[in-house]
Amino acid sequence: MTTNSITVGERVIKPCRIFCIGKNYTEHIRELDDFDSTLQSKNEKQPVVFMKPTTSIVSPGESIHVPSHGNVLHHEVEVVVLLKGGGKNILIEDSLSCVAGVTLGLDLTLRDVQVEVKKKGHPWELSKSFDHSSPLGLMRPYDDSFDLFDIPFACFVNEEKRQEGNTKDMLFSIPKIISFLSTVWKLMPGDLIYTGTPSGIGVIKSRDEISLNSPILGRFAWTVF
Ligand code: MG
Repeated sequence: MTTNSITVGERVIKPCRIFCIGKNYTEHIRELDDFDSTLQSKNEKQPVVFMKPTTSIVSPGESIHVPSHGNVLHHEVEVVVLLKGGGKNILIEDSLSCVAGVTLGLDLTLRDVQVEVKKKGHPWELSKSFDHSSPLGLMRPYDDSFDLFDIPFACFVNEEKRQEGNTKDMLFSIPKIISFLSTVWKLMPGDLIYTGTPSGIGVIKSRDEISLNSPILGRFAWTVF
């Protein structure tokens, strides 16, 4: 896989956009309070949404380069879905027919930069959307051979388990996310959705080995430079 194409089964899809969902697991919202005293409602009616460029994708086995414009680089393991179809105003009950594949990815975040831009009311791009901020595993084609609503997954740094989650604990389920996004954007084949991280976020630094693991989606690893 390169950032120009994503293989899913027999299909090759050009990545279109990367949507990211924030604050989608309760325990993670709780731990964010330690970093951000301005954090507010825990009962949002709509998901928190931001975007990253597809040029920030890093394939498994490639190196993640530490950005130089911040000091606290955090890992956020997330389940990522790839769309094969889309449209506007997709009903929740129709939304899974748009899903081509599922994998794990990292929504890498410069936490110190994010705290600063949030304080100033500035956009999040400097903290979230830099080069190499979106490591992405290989896609498992989505079909009824596994349950999208019960995917266990974990993040290891130097073989120490840092994060563990399950899609059943999402505040906004994958169908709800797709349906909501489609009220704002006409969704397209190649759109990727990072669906939020569970608790356990932490620092990664040069020479760390980071691996994401799910019995359903596989294992994907990167080295940090
Ligand atoms: Mg995230």
